[in-house]
Amino acid sequence: MTLYIAKPTSRKKIRDLANTLRRITGLYDEAYFPVVEFLELAMPELFKEFEYEIVPICGMPNEYGITYPEKNLISIREDVYERAIDGVERDRFTIAHEIGHFILHKPGMIELARTQTVQDIPIYKKPEWQANTFAGELLAPPQVIRGLSLEEVSSSCGVSLQVSEIQLKNMNK
Ligand SMILES: [Zn+2]
Repeated sequence: MTLYIAKPTSRKKIRDLANTLRRITGLYDEAYFPVVEFLELAMPELFKEFEYEIVPICGMPNEYGITYPEKNLISIREDVYERAIDGVERDRFTIAHEIGHFILHKPGMIELARTQTVQDIPIYKKPEWQANTFAGELLAPPQVIRGLSLEEVSSSCGVSLQVSEIQLKNMNK
């Protein structure tokens, strides 16, 4: 069995990275992070060779988004992209998640583990955990959610109640 494992990192380090991106784009205190505009306008500015593409549903029937760090490419499925523009929480999260893969999982940041099973890999080395954590920290960081209720985090940041709960629970980590 071949698995991808990422270099170890922590929620704290991922938060610092997400907040660096918020700072350099002037969005540090912005409650509602404009993730589609960030993908379209900021990412090509920040990463020289970066490209994104919007793929028809038939071209990617089983995935909402795919990131190819070695090709400097993020592919987002058309319906996900359109719903993210409309502010649908799950689709906003998908785009933030793929941006997380792109930034965290460049070649050299990822390695193959051929003999390990999924259970042997600590959570902080798992690419999916890292990308989800990045998405949560980009969309709903502590400086924006402090003092808010679950419902307020969800509505002001445009994230699901589930993501709101994770962010509030881990705010002081
Ligand atoms: Zn993923």
